[in-house]
Amino acid sequence: MTMTIRVAHLYGDLMNTYGDIGNILALQYYAKQIGVEVTSDIVSLEQDFNADDYDFAVFGGGQDYEQSVVAKDLQNKKDELIKFIEAGKPLVAVCGGYQMLGKYYVDAAGQKLPGIHAMDHYTEQQDNHRFIGNVLIQNEVTGQKYHGFENHQGITFLGKDEHPLGKVLKGYGNNGEDGTEGAVHKNTIGTYFHGPIMARNGNLAKHMMFKALETKYPETDFSKMKEKVKTYEY
Ligand code: GLN
Repeated sequence: MTMTIRVAHLYGDLMNTYGDIGNILALQYYAKQIGVEVTSDIVSLEQDFNADDYDFAVFGGGQDYEQSVVAKDLQNKKDELIKFIEAGKPLVAVCGGYQMLGKYYVDAAGQKLPGIHAMDHYTEQQDNHRFIGNVLIQNEVTGQKYHGFENHQGITFLGKDEHPLGKVLKGYGNNGEDGTEGAVHKNTIGTYFHGPIMARNGNLAKHMMFKALETKYPETDFSKMKEKVKTYEY
């Protein structure tokens, strides 16, 4: 029986800064090495999101205008998204998507957009300034380093029940102040990294892929498959 990872590409038609869709392509690439099939659907405005229909979700970044449109619709998907996250299914949220999973986002014009509070962070505005450039971080649990590119005006502060994806070695990260980048809650990752993050950091793609498989197929021993996956970094 072929194993399958069903991906929900949240607002993929609106939130796809710097080709964040590449996260799904990277997942497909690594899944192919172990004969796992990956299917994906864009789940966008006025479409239902059912947590049970998916094993993995990707929520990309966006400009402030798209984000304001998405912010309204997202409230209708809030309960199912929280159910998905709390079930331990992996979700990779980038930049605008990351901001919207938190409590709120204040855009460049000062407009406060509500998030869905699936995670405890919140995002304030910078005064007529953006953080732009290459970033390098290190995950303090695994020691792995991740490379990315950031371009955001929002500055994010972490809350309870989440820890950073990494410590900033180069670049700005969440807010340019506290040396943190991104947020992890259960198997959900929020990050400012474009690149896309899973294409440039194969070790992270592999980690997230096996989280999806282990959650979906809890009886299966994946250790042999893990040895087989050859990843590419940077
Ligand atoms: N509009 C948001 C900001 O500027 C997110 C940007 C992005 O997704 N790259 O902070």
